[in-house]
Amino acid sequence: MSGDDGDISNDAPLDVDSSIAPPLINCPNCDGLLPLGLGEKTCTLCDAVVSVDHEATRKEWMDERVACPSCSKVLVCGVDDRPATVACSSCANQFIINPKVVKVEISCPACERRLRLKPRPGSRQIICPACEESFKVTF
Ligand SMILES: [Zn+2]
Ligand SMILES: [Zn+2]
Ligand SMILES: [Zn+2]
Repeated sequence: MSGDDGDISNDAPLDVDSSIAPPLINCPNCDGLLPLGLGEKTCTLCDAVVSVDHEATRKEWMDERVACPSCSKVLVCGVDDRPATVACSSCANQFIINPKVVKVEISCPACERRLRLKPRPGSRQIICPACEESFKVTF
C-alpha cells in the first residue's frame, strides 16, 4: 500500500447515504408497515414473512452514482441492494452505501402543523413540538 496522496489511515469502513429510497410497503397480512428495504422481511407486528421486491428500485440502486468518501471520485454503485459494500476503483478503499431513510409527513391533529418523521412499524406516541399535543401515530 502506498499512500501517495495524504495519510488518511482510517480502518473503519467509510459510508455514504444512498439517495434512492425503497418504497414503503405494507404487510399483506396485517396491513402494518413492513421494515424498510427489499428482500425477505419479517413483519414486526404479526411475524409474517413477506418477500418484498421492487424492480425499479433495484435498477436505480444498480445505476446509482455515489462519490467515494475517501477520494471523491464518482462511481456507479453496481449493486442492487442496500446497504451495499463497494470498492472504489480509484483509491481502492471500500465503503458502505447505506439505505436512505424516507421521512413521511403527517399533520398534528390539534394545530395541523406538518411534522416529518421516520416511519417505523407499529404505533407510537409523539408530541407535537409546536403545541405539545400528544398523539398516536400508526404505520
Ligand atoms: Zn403484518
Ligand atoms: Zn476512492
Ligand atoms: Zn400541534
